[in-house]
Amino acid sequence: MIKKIIIGVVGIVLILVAVIAFKTITNTPKTIQAEQINKANIDADAVAQRLSQAVQIKTISVSHNAPVAQAEFKKLHALIDASFPLVAQKLTKEVFGNHSLLYTWQGSDASLQPGILMGHMDVVPVEAGTEQNWEHPPFSGKIIDGTIWGRGTLDDKLSVFAILEAAEYQLAQGFSPKRTLYFAFGHDEEIGGENGAGKIAEHLKNQGVNPAFTLDEGMVVVKDIMPGISQPIAFIALAEKGYLTLELTASAEGGHSSIPPKATAVGKISRAIARLEENRLSASLQSPVSDMLETLAPHMPISLKAVISNRWLLDPVLVDQLAKGKTTNAMVRTTTAATIINGGTKDNVLPSTARATVNFRLLPGDTIEDIVEHVNSVVDDPDVTAKIMQGNNPSKVSSSDSDSYRMIEKTVREVLPDVLVSPGLMLAGSDTKHYEPFSENSYRFIPMRFGPKDIARVHGTNERIYIDNYAEIIQFYIRLMENSGT
Ligand SMILES: [Zn+2]
Repeated sequence: MIKKIIIGVVGIVLILVAVIAFKTITNTPKTIQAEQINKANIDADAVAQRLSQAVQIKTISVSHNAPVAQAEFKKLHALIDASFPLVAQKLTKEVFGNHSLLYTWQGSDASLQPGILMGHMDVVPVEAGTEQNWEHPPFSGKIIDGTIWGRGTLDDKLSVFAILEAAEYQLAQGFSPKRTLYFAFGHDEEIGGENGAGKIAEHLKNQGVNPAFTLDEGMVVVKDIMPGISQPIAFIALAEKGYLTLELTASAEGGHSSIPPKATAVGKISRAIARLEENRLSASLQSPVSDMLETLAPHMPISLKAVISNRWLLDPVLVDQLAKGKTTNAMVRTTTAATIINGGTKDNVLPSTARATVNFRLLPGDTIEDIVEHVNSVVDDPDVTAKIMQGNNPSKVSSSDSDSYRMIEKTVREVLPDVLVSPGLMLAGSDTKHYEPFSENSYRFIPMRFGPKDIARVHGTNERIYIDNYAEIIQFYIRLMENSGT
């Protein structure tokens, strides 16, 4: 009897091992045909000069309450008109929300759905006290050692200018697109985009525009980020996480601290936060992160490849591992971050209220209602209430199997033959959310080349781009304009 059981167990183990080995070995990279292309002849000095000039214009978005940098946007518009005369002459330009720009480049084939290339012209301020940490001042646009320095070189004047450079180049060549192309450049992305991208999107929707794709900022080309993969990886984001800020308020009896209750408002709010940190939202592996891992698995070391190739059995192990890293954790769950706390004014007075602000980034699939419910059930205190201060649900997940995804992937491979291409999830937000109501295929990607530490330059100190990479980004848009008609 025991012998039979042992034989049975051994048999099951052998079958499992065989299935795991089979699935691991047969998981090979998908090959995509990319043509050898003749690169466009770009004047690197001239394009660098124009981006440098754009960086020197302080189109800063501070907050909803602060005035718009009107004069600076006027200067930037004038620079754009002067820098790209053919674009000014041949494309239709419309202004929305006073400062956002929509260009229309009429395609020759009206039966094709249009494509929308996006970017934003505003930048974030430089954090007070960090100015002296910059190697070159943030609004200098300094060009030195093959590098352009300053705010907007990564986020996001570079895409606005690269798209316009590509269009100007193509117009000079006598090219015109088959598919109508829109260039949509917002002026308030850094504070939500309601007046810029929001207004442009509303206009396009009212015009009955049904785009084949939108392509916006989002993810980039990263090196040394995935274990065992030495090639740079171009991540094309299929989705972006949602955003929710809750203010928790704890109420308690006020009075003199010589006769306190068991828990003060400060104690209650602290307990609420501790409970939220101890009871994070559950982790799970879903699209587009699962698409990303499956795409990259064939390029990974055998141990990881075996785990990802056998998700039918090993998903819990995989999720557990991903949840251990800070960045990968953000890919598998809605994150919880307590960011502000306030309460009390005097050491011997019991405060009647104490407040905390908690910021959540929602994984596609979760909703604001789900999170509020989770918070109320975990905090489980009738004296603590949660109020929504700001929120937008996560985006839907676009397909990595659409014609337009394949077109973008092909373009990346043609222009940057050294990179792998993978779907991805954008952990921050973009203007694309305004296009969701009428756009089915929304992608977020610029072929900026990042090392693991470069992400800190975005909204941080020492934002800069290599001119070689900027020229590559222009090449990408030039080729995309050609490929977009197919
Ligand atoms: Zn941006």
